[in-house]
Amino acid sequence: MSELISFGAGVNSVAMAILLANDGWRGPIVFADTGCEWPETYCYLEYFEREWLAPRGLSVTRLQGLPWQRVHGGATLIGYCEERHVIPASGVRWCTIEWKVNAIGRWAEQHAVDTQLIGIAADEAHRQPLKLRPLVDRNITRQGCIDIIVAEGLDVPQKSGCHICPFQRDSQWRELWHRHPDLFERAAALEESTPRTKSGRTTATLDPAGKVTLRDRQYRYEHQGGLLEESDWDELLAYRPCVCGI
Ligand code: SF4
Repeated sequence: MSELISFGAGVNSVAMAILLANDGWRGPIVFADTGCEWPETYCYLEYFEREWLAPRGLSVTRLQGLPWQRVHGGATLIGYCEERHVIPASGVRWCTIEWKVNAIGRWAEQHAVDTQLIGIAADEAHRQPLKLRPLVDRNITRQGCIDIIVAEGLDVPQKSGCHICPFQRDSQWRELWHRHPDLFERAAALEESTPRTKSGRTTATLDPAGKVTLRDRQYRYEHQGGLLEESDWDELLAYRPCVCGI
């Protein structure tokens, strides 16, 4: 049986890679790149690969710009959204399905890999019960994942996910605005480019409830302060918006 690690560069999949590699597992570690992950995630991926994987003869296979992806505005999710004037879906998560699940699934088919190992922690055991979940099998919780990473002398990654993800919490949008104003601006411009109602309100906000636009948030951040409290950081580190199980 051939296996790959479905890798998102977040806490769970980093811990899973460490755990398996320390047990002697050697195989492809595959990262499906939407092209709009937070910069901190790309940074961590390079750091983890350089500091921990490379010395063990391992590396990360990055999937982006693949010929099967239905992209016209570039090989990225954000390029697709900008060209089509759509935002990542909050109902059927076509963004996850196309840019992550299908990307890795088709790569696996092409490379005759029949099994994907996904980083679901024991405290989320209800998620994707039909998949192979080494962390659940070993009863390792999210805190256990953090302990594994820290025990290797590594920094703990920020949660992974797209910086245009509609499932981000306000603390994340606020942090994006504060740390990466250019990316916040791009997300706001994307939202503004989506179809509008007669009243002028955008119908496809990057808010699943459809109530708050990024310009609303920006106004609030600019006039009420934008720095995160310590408790918000906990939320930022813990939050997992994506259903792909990566
Ligand atoms: S992180 Fe959000 S925007 Fe990105 S693929 Fe997952 S659900 Fe879609």
